Amino acid sequence: MGRGKDFSEDTRLKCVLWSDRYCCLCGKACGPDIEIAHIDLEGGNDLDNAIPVCYYCHATREDITRSILVETDTELES
Ligand SMILES: [Zn+2]
Repeated sequence: MGRGKDFSEDTRLKCVLWSDRYCCLCGKACGPDIEIAHIDLEGGNDLDNAIPVCYYCHATREDITRSILVETDTELES
């Protein structure tokens, strides 16, 4: 088992169920088109690093990562 660049089927399923198939960023209902992106591109393939997004948001996922990190920082500071 190598450290691949993709999530396991189990992780994807959990992430999809957790999000109720809504994009975590723009709130769009994606139905079966929901995709799972990495929050930290250098991170692992655990559920902690998985975020459900629509394919449009996924296409700009570098920005996604950045905006999530900014939000996290803000929460920690307040
Ligand atoms: Zn989206």
